[in-house]
Amino acid sequence: MTKDDIVVVPEPNLRKRSKKVGLITDEIKQIIADMRAATIDWENSREHEASVGLAAVQVNTMLRIFIVRNDTENIENKDFTVFINPEIVKKIGPVEEDYEGCLSVPDIYGRVKRHKTVKVKALNEDGKPFRVTAHDFLARILQHETDHTNGLLFIDHIKDDSTAFFKMNSEGKIEPVDFDTDIKDNSLLWSIDA
Ligand SMILES: [Zn+2]
Repeated sequence: MTKDDIVVVPEPNLRKRSKKVGLITDEIKQIIADMRAATIDWENSREHEASVGLAAVQVNTMLRIFIVRNDTENIENKDFTVFINPEIVKKIGPVEEDYEGCLSVPDIYGRVKRHKTVKVKALNEDGKPFRVTAHDFLARILQHETDHTNGLLFIDHIKDDSTAFFKMNSEGKIEPVDFDTDIKDNSLLWSIDA
């Protein structure tokens, strides 16, 4: 797969719940390999952005799988951790607001409130259960990606807050958008297929 296999709004599947994975077959392993390839290909095409995670729904595969970058500080490291049938078992501590973007919502950023710490359980690629306690940016990524498996996008959390939307300029800096012209009437973002 390449970056062109990544679906973007208003793709209706992005607003649908993905299905649980049963047996981890070779076909599932191929989907995961494809997701990795598409994520890295997308990153190679962007000047100022790194891709820290991708959910299967973003390559139009309605399965509860996502991958998360092992080292979000160093994009030379192309390794990802695979989460199959992920579940947030606990949300802990205060809620913090920070910038968030998504490969399926091109060029739009938002300030989204997320829990500072989460505990997540999932299966790895070999079908073995594991648990992670994540803080800060990793906790944010895990909440964002788990949302994808449930048909939720980050923009759905902030759609009533006109000050929460931003875009990236050509220098890679995040700047506010005009909510009324760029966002509010953007049928690409809001044509939700319920
Ligand atoms: Zn996303």
